[in-house]
This record gives sequence, C-alpha cells and structure tokens, in this order.
Amino acid sequence: MSLDGVYDHDNIFAKILRGEIPSARVFEDDHVYAFMDAFPQSRGHTLVIPKHSQARNMLEEEPETLSHLILGVQRVARAMRSALNPDGVMVFQLNGAPTGQTVFHLHFHVIPRWEGDGPLGRHAGGAMADMAELKALAEQIAAKIS
Ligand code: 5GP
Repeated sequence: MSLDGVYDHDNIFAKILRGEIPSARVFEDDHVYAFMDAFPQSRGHTLVIPKHSQARNMLEEEPETLSHLILGVQRVARAMRSALNPDGVMVFQLNGAPTGQTVFHLHFHVIPRWEGDGPLGRHAGGAMADMAELKALAEQIAAKIS
C-alpha cells in the first residue's frame, strides 16, 4: 500500500481497539492505547496507537491527536525504563509499505534495548509471542505508568 489510500476499518489494530482480537494492554487513556507487539523485536516491544483516528500513517494525522499520541509514547517509554531497566529505548514509526509498514493504522513502536543483546529481531515476523508472557510484561510496564 502506498502513502495514499483509504483507511480499512477491519485492520488488525482497529479490531484490537474494538476488542475483537485480544491484546496485552499496557496503558490507555481517552486518546491512546498501548499494548504488547505480538511479534516482538525485543522483550518488551510495545505499540502505541491513537484510539479515535482513521489516519493510516503519521502524515495523515491531526496535530492534536498526534500530540496526545507522542505524549503516550513518552509515558510508555518512561514506564518501560523503570520496569525493565533497558540501556536504551528505541522509538520508531513507519509510513507506507516501502518502509516496512504492515498495519495501516498509525502507531509508534517502543522497543527496549540492552547492551550486548544482539541484533534487533525481525520486524513483524517470526513466531507469535506467548500471550501469558506478553500479559506479564504488560503488567510490569503498566505498574510503572505515571
Ligand atoms: P508496522 O509493520 O505496521 O510498523 O508494525 C505493525 C506491528 O504490528 C508489527 O510489529 C507486528 O509484529 C504487529 N502485529 C501484527 N499483528 C499483530 C496482532 O495481531 N497483535 C499485536 N499485538 N501485534 C501485531
């Protein structure tokens, strides 16, 4: 899918927001929903998405919604630091299929990194993580949200 297109109300994140697909929730407020990536690129990989948006990427998003979203990203990154004690926190966001974007509902990736933990895992690939493990990690991070 190119940068131009129509929002698909049946994309995976829209289904997660409607509760049609289970997710390991880390945090939510009126504007954003944060949950564990099901195919994590490192232990603790979290996604942060706007709850009321039909933006497929950042270029389409309203400034106010984007403001809430990036503040949500910061809250999650800070909580992740407290909970998991990483040496670094990687934040990234993809726009358009040629960048590797696979889900077309705007989202930020928040990924903890540790010294010596090797190369980053494959993006949006590999085996699906165990839901019980994801929920345990989500609870750890959630406990540090402030
Ligand atoms: P993108 O490629 O669009 O930047 O990122 C989409 C992300 O969604 C990927 O990191 C992928 O692992 C994740 N993902 C795909 N399907 C699911 C799912 O059903 N549940 C969750 N929690 N994450 C998913």
